[in-house]
Amino acid sequence: MKLTILGNRGPLPLPGEACSSYLLEHEGHALLIDAGSASLPRLLEHVSLKELDAVILSHLHFDHCSDALVMQYSTKTAPLPLYCPFEPAPVLDALTGFGGFEAHEAAEGKTVAIGPFTVTFGPAKHPVPCVSVKVEAGGRIFAYTGDSNDCPEQVDFLHGADLLLADAGMTESAWTAASPHRTPKMCAELAEKSGAGCLVLSHFGPAQDPGSCAKEAAGSVIVSGAEVNRVFEV
Ligand SMILES: [Zn+2]
Repeated sequence: MKLTILGNRGPLPLPGEACSSYLLEHEGHALLIDAGSASLPRLLEHVSLKELDAVILSHLHFDHCSDALVMQYSTKTAPLPLYCPFEPAPVLDALTGFGGFEAHEAAEGKTVAIGPFTVTFGPAKHPVPCVSVKVEAGGRIFAYTGDSNDCPEQVDFLHGADLLLADAGMTESAWTAASPHRTPKMCAELAEKSGAGCLVLSHFGPAQDPGSCAKEAAGSVIVSGAEVNRVFEV
């Protein structure tokens, strides 16, 4: 599989950057995982919307779903499969109101086959319903935490990923047990406990520098700050 980082910021993009959005490709098939603010033009530099097999939204916070709203104008005549939690209902209604998506609920424990991808949804700890995502194809495993604070159940669910993409959106000084995100160091602990082959950090807050976050998370796994437009072979 090939992973392209389209956006790695949250909850707001910085000038010239985009919020969480990731393109996963394999053998001519493509999944868009999250569609945060300002990510759509970046996506279209790689694939057309017609080339997407499906859109997966880990949850319905705007920094993960806002650019999916305008995709509906283009996909109205050929609705795209959309997998996401079905709450908050008003956001789901906005995403499906133009008929551009064929919506399927993404719930913990559910597995779906999409082209060559086997996609399983897992747990996450976040203020709104959110799923972690595991994608298997070509004998390789890509795993994504979604937005999550510490969630011990993710250690088992995300186990054995060749590449783990993790939300590192909290600084050490700001983190509490009630925070919506992990810190970079916590992402490294998750990667080590779950036996990930490689860790890629994302969802950087306005005050976070991706390079510094990667240094904070440095350990036994290879860590990257996930520069935008960077491509990873999974
Ligand atoms: Zn969120």
